[in-house]
Amino acid sequence: MSDRDIRKERADQLVEAAEKLFAAGVMSHSGHANLSARLDGERILLTPGFVRGLRPEQLATVGFDGQVLEGELQSVSAEIIAMHSAVYKARPHVGAIIHTHSPSATAFAVAHRPLPCRTEPMLRFGQAEDVPVVPWGPRGSDVSVRGIADVLQQRPTTAAVLLANHGLLVFGPDSAATAHLVVAIEESAEAEIAAAAIGGAVDFPPGAQEAVRASIARVTS
Ligand SMILES: [Zn+2]
Repeated sequence: MSDRDIRKERADQLVEAAEKLFAAGVMSHSGHANLSARLDGERILLTPGFVRGLRPEQLATVGFDGQVLEGELQSVSAEIIAMHSAVYKARPHVGAIIHTHSPSATAFAVAHRPLPCRTEPMLRFGQAEDVPVVPWGPRGSDVSVRGIADVLQQRPTTAAVLLANHGLLVFGPDSAATAHLVVAIEESAEAEIAAAAIGGAVDFPPGAQEAVRASIARVTS
């Protein structure tokens, strides 16, 4: 595929993921979010500063260093390039990143409480461990970005982090898988909060992850 074709494919997938997240009701109430997809080398596609009504050709191409290579970015989006770049640098297999303020996940972020993995979709869609909390720092600041890099190093298999007093950051192999995990995490956060009123959520039994893996292998083999 040519560079153009790859850009178009990734841009279409990113816009589709954003639409699914709005339809699922897991975006911030304000519609605030930023999504990105890896191109090649140190280049990514990034939402320009708004997501609602976004068209694929409105995505900007930016470098890890913050340089805008194609398209236009609002200053609000320029601030968050370092946040996305830190994840791509730390995780060579990550192909897409989604940040938003899903209401129930953000409750955990505000409470500085890691979100446990206690629902089947969260286990199945790639987060078989609790979602850790990154200490607060102003969005896109060195403190915040360093905090994300530190937590990714401490937690080599986590596919998401909660940003304290802020929101949620999720990453995966592509836009669709990452969007699925955002939905699973928000559902889990909602269920945790609801379960707290009736005695509290309960952990999976030992071996649950292996059992889910075996069940996935059975249907896909
Ligand atoms: Zn935010």
